[in-house]
This record gives sequence, structure tokens and C-alpha cells, in this order.
Amino acid sequence: MNRFTYARVEDVATAVRAIADDGHARLIAGGTNLLDLMKENVERPERLIDITHLPLAGIEPNDHGGLRLGALATNTSVAYHPEVERRYPLLSQAILAGASAQLRNMASVGGNLMQRTRCAYFYDTATPCNKRTPGAGCSAIGGFTRHHAILGASEHCIAVHPSDMCVALAALDAVVRVTGPRGDRTIAFGDFHRLPGDTPHLDTTKRSDEIITAVDLPAEGFARHSTYLKVRDRTSYAFALVAVAAALRMEGGTIAEARVALGGVAHKPWRDPSVEATLRGQPATRASFQPAADALVRDARASGQNAFKIELARRAVVRAFERAARGRDEAGPAAGATAGDQP
Ligand code: SF4
Repeated sequence: MNRFTYARVEDVATAVRAIADDGHARLIAGGTNLLDLMKENVERPERLIDITHLPLAGIEPNDHGGLRLGALATNTSVAYHPEVERRYPLLSQAILAGASAQLRNMASVGGNLMQRTRCAYFYDTATPCNKRTPGAGCSAIGGFTRHHAILGASEHCIAVHPSDMCVALAALDAVVRVTGPRGDRTIAFGDFHRLPGDTPHLDTTKRSDEIITAVDLPAEGFARHSTYLKVRDRTSYAFALVAVAAALRMEGGTIAEARVALGGVAHKPWRDPSVEATLRGQPATRASFQPAADALVRDARASGQNAFKIELARRAVVRAFERAARGRDEAGPAAGATAGDQP
């Protein structure tokens, strides 16, 4: 680990000035990813700016009938917030599917959005990696690719985004609020994370001199019919091979609106609104869900050992929609229960 200086800031304007003035500075909140990256010499900041004392930890109603999650709200405080559990159980389930209780107690909303890929080659500074060193090459291509992308990859990077929370936020059409030297702006969640293209070192569309202040949830939370399904190599503390955030708004037995986002398959949570539109007006049955699942992975490409993820994604989408369609009663558990799942 390199030597660095440390400073704590108490207000947002000072934090913005600090990173705008110093390209070698990094913000630190929970530190659950940055400290790993520093220990492995992937990140070598000369200055750490501690933002944990900024007034950004609140969870409160927003102007759109939804909820505003402060950037420094911890994953735990979001997952167990009564309004999140009641109105956005999809988000609670996704957060609780990730990491461990200890990590969720430290990890923040903003940090979850900004976490970097867990591609093993990215963390191994002895191997070339375009995300770490632009132009160096990609060691994963031709290497071990069990966890790598099947959608939206490029010849320069086949990494996946590791977050569970972000998959749910993508399905919910959340909005990211940022601030910087040029003022405040909002970024639709689907535009926040990038596909790798020929600039895989850029993970997001947030400018380097901006900081995330909050994430807005819209009024519609799909509370009655949604589920987060995560398939992984072990049942806890593992990143997704494939994850699905599925949500339905039902009118009787007919689908009025459908959302589906995939995790573990691309450089960003993967959504295709044209596929979701095909479900509108359809009965909530496997016969409707299967063609949608097929369409969602129609452009999937394997690279070595990850070929199994294409069929896995197809099956997981159908299963997640079937769970979501069954729904939950008002007093019952969130729709992540396994009873009645079909293989
Ligand atoms: Fe680096 Fe991306 Fe290749 Fe992994 S997949 S080695 S992160 S360029």
C-alpha cells in the first residue's frame, strides 16, 4: 500500500472542491471496496477524503411520491428501513443477497454504485488489464471466465458489475443525484453505469469531479409482485453467476407492466425495455415468460467457461417472473420464498 494523506470533510461543497482540485484524491466512506483495492495496489491514491460525516445518510420521502436514499445510508439501513421493506421489497431482497452482514453495515449507497468489478485479473497487478491500465490488454480473454460477461462485452473487457443492489435499482428505474463544480444533475439509473466499449477504465457516466448525493426511488415499487433471484456458487457471501430482479404490475391475471434486470452478466445491470414491453397484456404464465427470457439473452455470447450462464440466465428469468407473479400477501414474507418454484 502506498503512503497517503487523510482529511475529513464536514460539508458537501468542501468535498466537491477537494476532489475537483486533486485528481489523485479519492473519497472514502465505508471503504469496503476502496481499501481492498489499495491493499492490492490497484488504487494508489495520494489523498483520502473521508466523507462519512457529510449529512447524506437520510432516507426520506422525495418530491415524486417515492423515497430518497442518501448516498451515505448504509446498505443495512436501507434494506431494513420500514418503508423500503413495505414499498420496495425487491430492493431489500437484493441488498440482503449481497456481501455479509458486517460489510452491509459499513457499505453505503453511493459506494455500492461506485464499486469496481471483481474480475480476478483486475485485482492481480501482475497481469495486464485494460480497466486498470488502458491499452495494456485483457487477461480474462482467453483466461478463466466462469464469472465474466455474456452480454454487452467488448474486445477490450469482459468484466461484470458485481452489485446486487444496483440490479434492483435498475429494475425500479431509480435516479442518481450527483453534484459537482458545475452544479447538481440527475442521471437515470440505466445511464449511470457504462458498457466497456474501448474505454473499460470508465465504469460510470459520473464525472470524476462529481459526488453522488442520493438515489431517488420512484413511487411505483412493485411491492406486490417482485422478486430478486440470485444464483451463485455458494449460498452466501458470493457474487452472482446470474441474478434477476423481476417485477410485475398485475391487473387481475394480466400483466400491466413488467420489469426485468439481470446481474452478473454484463458490465452494468442489463435491461431491455423492448422485451419488457412484449409482456404487457399477456397472462402471467410460463408461456409468456419463456419467450421474454429467450429474447433477453438473444445477443448473449460466451467466452470460454461462462457458456453455461446463457441457459442459466434464461431459466432464472422464467423462475423469477413466476415467483413475482405469485406475489406476496400484505402481511407475508417478500416474494423471494422458494416454495412452489419449478425447476
Ligand atoms: Fe481487466 Fe476487464 Fe479484462 Fe478483467 S475483463 S482483465 S477487468 S480488462
